[in-house]
Amino acid sequence: MSAKRIDHFIEGQCVAGASGRQQSVTNPATGAVTGQVALASSAEVARAVAVAQAAFPAWADTPPLRRARVMFKFLELLNQHRDTLAHMITAEHGKVFTDAQGEVTRGIEIVEFATGIPQLLKGDYTEQVSTGIDNWTMRQPLGVVAGITPFNFPVMVPMWMFPVAIAAGNTFILKPSPIDPSPSLFMAELLKQAGLPDGVFNVVQGDKEAVDALLVHPDVKAISFVGSTPIANYIYETGAHHGKRVQALGGAKNHMVVMPDADLEQVVDALIGSAYGSAGERCMAISVAVLVGDVADKIMPRLIARTQALKVLDGENLAAEMGPIVTEAARSRIRGYIDAGVAEGAQLLVDGRHFDGAKAGAACDNGFWLGGTLFDHVSTEMKIYKEEIFGPVLACVRVPDFATAVQIINDHEFGNGVSCFTRDGNVAREFSRRIQVGMVGINVPIPVPMAWHGFGGWKRSLFGDMHAYGEEGVRFYSKQKSIMQRWPESIAKGAEFVMPTSK
Ligand code: NAD
Repeated sequence: MSAKRIDHFIEGQCVAGASGRQQSVTNPATGAVTGQVALASSAEVARAVAVAQAAFPAWADTPPLRRARVMFKFLELLNQHRDTLAHMITAEHGKVFTDAQGEVTRGIEIVEFATGIPQLLKGDYTEQVSTGIDNWTMRQPLGVVAGITPFNFPVMVPMWMFPVAIAAGNTFILKPSPIDPSPSLFMAELLKQAGLPDGVFNVVQGDKEAVDALLVHPDVKAISFVGSTPIANYIYETGAHHGKRVQALGGAKNHMVVMPDADLEQVVDALIGSAYGSAGERCMAISVAVLVGDVADKIMPRLIARTQALKVLDGENLAAEMGPIVTEAARSRIRGYIDAGVAEGAQLLVDGRHFDGAKAGAACDNGFWLGGTLFDHVSTEMKIYKEEIFGPVLACVRVPDFATAVQIINDHEFGNGVSCFTRDGNVAREFSRRIQVGMVGINVPIPVPMAWHGFGGWKRSLFGDMHAYGEEGVRFYSKQKSIMQRWPESIAKGAEFVMPTSK
């Protein structure tokens, strides 16, 4: 099978790369190269920005209700093509098909939210702030805005951004991860079919060169980024330096606290699903179990058995619970972390380093496979505790009490998601109030907020002021204008030299 060409999408059509640079796209299950994605030069980015800038005035002037109708049509098309998108995700990311379907569904929910944009953009109005004077606020779009997205959710994370941005009247440039770029073009085609005018949504494929071009371009007014913390930090500082609004969501180390009164069957299910689902390549994956009191001794035999029994299979196999790792580079990074954990003295109970890909399915022997890995007796000084591994590795930390559990989580540099399993309402309440983390689950292992609540971590998991999507997303993609008005009949004669106050 020859590798397909993966283009940019500019002004309503696919455009072949002109930079002469490209990158191989691989099926992680088999290791086969399936595509060559173009990597944009700064000149190609500049063309996309010019196109988006030219499309902005007419789109911003389009009544919000008509913009919402395009979203309704897009929603209908997404629902029709949900499985096509999910298969595209599995082919380039490797996650299991049913999980990919879930990803598409969570993206679709943001489109559903964005269909309510006329209501969301409504301003405030105060009659008679002073005699004969009214004051109101309204929200207007920013202009050209850009989204830079990670490999791990090639559909959902772009959909955290562009439906809200476009519905709010902006024009958009998506720079997807070059690891799994194909779904971006399919989404662009569906938006076009939905009636979105050419130039409102554009895709530039690429790497650092394309990102840097977006970061410094004067016509790009805002940048939304999701990816690893060092790059998020760089995006935030560089974008802000160039006068842009920036929201940059970074990496994570999500803890799950298990109290002795929790339902331990539920706890084991929750840990296995949230640590190994999507091979741990989720920013909300649970990577640390904080086991309070005697919980560790009670659940460890079950955790070992369940980790060993994971169905690690080609993602297209409907029986699969976990697919391959996204790239060879990621697999060797994760193996390196497992080596480091052993060297630092953590107890390796299940070792996924030598998983045989041939067991995962036909033609999988050259894929990027790892088995689930389980460590016990991990301490807070260890590298496998401190750093984000982003793979199917669960680290268990034993603590004596609830206060220690809260303390170690609050001391950690990341603060994306967290969970606490307990039957005690007061513990749950105290946990929710005291924990220094942006998204909290009580007996919910992966508390990804719904479309109208907004997504965002704390500490070094988010740089910027606004969370993604929800009402914060609407605020991020619009600016407030305040208007004060009176009519000649109410204007008193004579110049006023003092600060105006209510009369
Ligand atoms: P990444 O940081 O390597 O890449 C993210 C994006 O930045 C990609 O589009 C990539 O092309 C670009 N990029 C990479 N290096 C760059 C550089 N030097 N300069 C400019 N741009 C660069 O992240 P990834 O490996 O694709 O994704 C996994 C990471 O994303 C994990 O750390 C995960 O926790 C994080 N993530 C966070 C969230 C969240 O909501 N907080 C959600 C999903 C993923």
